[in-house]
Amino acid sequence: MTSTPNSFSSDSNSINPKDILDPFVLENLATHQKFMQRAIDTAEEALRGGETPVACVLVHGGEVVARGMNDTNRSLNGTRHAEFLALAEFFEKFPPSELKNTDLYVTVEPCIMCASALRQYGIRTVFYGCGNDRFGGNGSVLSVHSDENLDPPYPSYGGVYRKEAIMLLRRFYIQENENAPNPRAKGNRELKMVV
Ligand SMILES: [Zn+2]
Repeated sequence: MTSTPNSFSSDSNSINPKDILDPFVLENLATHQKFMQRAIDTAEEALRGGETPVACVLVHGGEVVARGMNDTNRSLNGTRHAEFLALAEFFEKFPPSELKNTDLYVTVEPCIMCASALRQYGIRTVFYGCGNDRFGGNGSVLSVHSDENLDPPYPSYGGVYRKEAIMLLRRFYIQENENAPNPRAKGNRELKMVV
C-alpha cells in the first residue's frame, strides 16, 4: 500500500460511487489487488524518475509478464504511454494472439489511443484504478472498449486502488508545481480531471 497524505482525508467521510467495485472484481478481489499493486509500485518508480505516475502490468497465466510506465516526459514522445511500453515488452515474449489470454492492470483508465490499441490487439480484460475524465477511452470520454461499431469488445473494470492511483498523480502535480519557476495552480486543476 502507498502512504496516504492528510490531504486525502476529506474524501474518506462518505463512499464515492467510483469506489464501488463490480461484482466480477469482488469475486477475486485479492488477486486483482495484488496485480494492481504491482502497477502502483511501477507508477511509484515513474514518479521517482520525474515521469507522470501512470503504469501498468500485463498478466498472463497468473503471472506478470510485462510492465510499462509512462515515458512521455523523458522521451518527448506522446505515444510512449505505459500500455504501449508494456505491449512492446509482451511482444518480445509472446505472439500478439496471446493477448486474448492476457489481462491489463493499469493505474489510470486507458486513454482513447491506448484503449483502441488494446482492442485491436484483442486484450482479454482491462482493470484500471482511477478514471480519466479528460482522455479516457474506457467509458469516461469515449467507450472504445465496447463501442458496437468495432469488434470484438473487451470488458473493463475500474476502481481497484483508485485512491492510490489518484494520490500518485496528485503528488506528481504538486511536485511539478513546486518546481516551476512561476508556481501556479496548474497542479490542482490537472488533478481534478481524474478524481
Ligand atoms: Zn494512453
